Amino acid sequence: MPRVVTFHYTLRDPSGRVLDTSADVDPVTYLEGAGQIIDGLDEQLRTTAAGAKVRVQVPAKKAYGERDAAQMQKVNRSVLPVEGELNVGDQFQTGPHRSDPVVTVAAIEGDEVLLDGNHPLAGVDLTFDVEILTVREANAEEISHGHAHGPGGHAHP
Ligand code: ZN
Repeated sequence: MPRVVTFHYTLRDPSGRVLDTSADVDPVTYLEGAGQIIDGLDEQLRTTAAGAKVRVQVPAKKAYGERDAAQMQKVNRSVLPVEGELNVGDQFQTGPHRSDPVVTVAAIEGDEVLLDGNHPLAGVDLTFDVEILTVREANAEEISHGHAHGPGGHAHP
């Protein structure tokens, strides 16, 4: 039976820099094995109990994947949906929807811009400091939907 787990986390890169944390926002709730969190973290939290504080190391290939050279693309600046100044490191979405991929400006040479379509965390080994808040068995509805439900049951679109 998969479990529904709620946890707080702080995510660091190999140099110890904090990339993300849930400390100031709501904890994360997920259904095990449903792809709601990255695979490598899901797998390594399977044996944890409520109250546990664990450090989990997730290699890049089990997190956001290795970097893919094929995701680098040179385009003319004029095709970019950017007005004004453009700088290396700028990120923008390639379309109007939240799910559209984000690209990063990797280099600028005159009118030519090298875009990197890799996830910003591709190729980065991740370290999560996790505090497990609650653990319970998933119910049949959650398993059939493939995600966890909140205290009020099915409360999502
Ligand atoms: Zn649902």
